[in-house]
Amino acid sequence: MEPAKQKYDVIIIGSGPGGASTAKELTEQGRKVCILERGPDPKLKNSFFQYILYQLIPFKSLLFTNGFLGMVRGIITGGSSVFYYATCCPVPLDMLKKYGIDLSEEVENAKSELPSKPLDDNMITPMADKIMKSAQKLGYNWQKLDKFMYQEKWSKNQKFGYYGDPDEIKWTSRMYVNQAVKNGARLITNAKVEKIVTANQKAKGVIYKKGLRKYRIDAPVVVLSAGGIGTPVILRKSGIKKAGYNFFFDPLITVCGTVDEIKAENEIPMSAGIHLKKEGYMMTDMSVPLPLDMLFSAQVLRFNRLFSQKKTLRIMIKIKDDLGGRITHLGQVRKKLTKNDMEKFKSGYKKAEKILKQAGAKGIHKTWYTAAHPGGTAKIGEIVDSNLMTEYKNLYVCDCSVIPEPWGLPPTLTLVSLGKRLAKHLVKNT
Ligand SMILES: Cc1cc2nc3c(=O)[nH]c(=O)nc-3n(C[C@H](O)[C@H](O)[C@H](O)COP(=O)(O)OP(=O)(O)OC[C@H]3O[C@@H](n4cnc5c(N)ncnc54)[C@H](O)[C@@H]3O)c2cc1C
Repeated sequence: MEPAKQKYDVIIIGSGPGGASTAKELTEQGRKVCILERGPDPKLKNSFFQYILYQLIPFKSLLFTNGFLGMVRGIITGGSSVFYYATCCPVPLDMLKKYGIDLSEEVENAKSELPSKPLDDNMITPMADKIMKSAQKLGYNWQKLDKFMYQEKWSKNQKFGYYGDPDEIKWTSRMYVNQAVKNGARLITNAKVEKIVTANQKAKGVIYKKGLRKYRIDAPVVVLSAGGIGTPVILRKSGIKKAGYNFFFDPLITVCGTVDEIKAENEIPMSAGIHLKKEGYMMTDMSVPLPLDMLFSAQVLRFNRLFSQKKTLRIMIKIKDDLGGRITHLGQVRKKLTKNDMEKFKSGYKKAEKILKQAGAKGIHKTWYTAAHPGGTAKIGEIVDSNLMTEYKNLYVCDCSVIPEPWGLPPTLTLVSLGKRLAKHLVKNT
């Protein structure tokens, strides 16, 4: 095993929103940071081929539960944010306060730094507009959502960066990684961390695999940001056996139908919607590119509408699921939806059906269950303390794993804010 020659103050594992935000903040304060990222750092092309390579490889980035639910994550520099839909949702400040975390300052700071506001009216595309008007007519408080998008760079013929945005209109945590690297951080890609090296209950460094060789890097502080699935696997291998149980993953279905009079044109997904907090789910417009539209239809045996993407009106229902399940030692997902979860889907389906009918859609049906926000696998109060430190001194976790309770909303703003808070703590205390 080759020891690294360079000295670092902090090693960060994973470059999704949690890790990238911590890295950027620390390097701004002059800390020497090394980021170890399992995926590569390719130039993004918004190509389906790249999407398959970095988000749809079965049992690596495309996982299946024992209930046949499909779950995706990005294994690439920038993590899942490379393929996300750039919707900026409120941070669960009250929930985090219960665990001793006041994130309000960091949220304000993140918001002032990131592009996050509702889309201009001219960016509300035909299908999203039709759904919003129909929902509002039925009395729903369906409103435009904040988006992490540099809207001034957008033009009418622009395709949304579902598969990775080469024009960088969508903010992703790759931008923070690039800033960290400019500030002097070292990014090592294709580096799969296997375990944390510890001695006397303290983190000493990490062991990672690159190609066929294993390497060890030491540093006085290690931050684990390998995401809701990657983090518990590494924690367990490092001796924290309780990680990876009783988690949430914000499962979703989409409900769709076809309309004749309009055509989908370069739709932007999740432009508008509603959060029904009491009911436990959110509903938004949803558009997906042709291959995914075809896949969704094939999954529910709707072969007759394989080429109907341009006529599809689609609503997403994303629920706050009950905690449960476990991550296996190999990083696979075991979790079943509960009766309570299914009731939420049923209730959301009924509402979506009404909205689509009112909009004139025909052939309304739902698609199969998927999920994209695994979290709660190393919860604050259980695996980490309110400073995000584990039972090993100077081993921290900063990603979706630490979220202590499900809250059913996309978490990127929360994770960026947690990274900012952790960096402040590290600068002050290490
Ligand atoms: C299709 C889709 C749409 C989404 N839309 C939205 C949205 O609109 N708004 C929103 O807020 N959120 C959205 N999300 C969710 C959001 O992208 C994730 O919640 C967020 O990226 C999680 O950040 P993270 O830092 O916890 O982990 P991740 O982004 O998963 O990053 C973890 C990183 O760690 C790396 N890694 C894993 N294991 C190892 C290892 N052993 N060694 C080294 N590196 C490792 C991975 O390659 C990855 O880069 C979406 C997600 C998906 C998939």
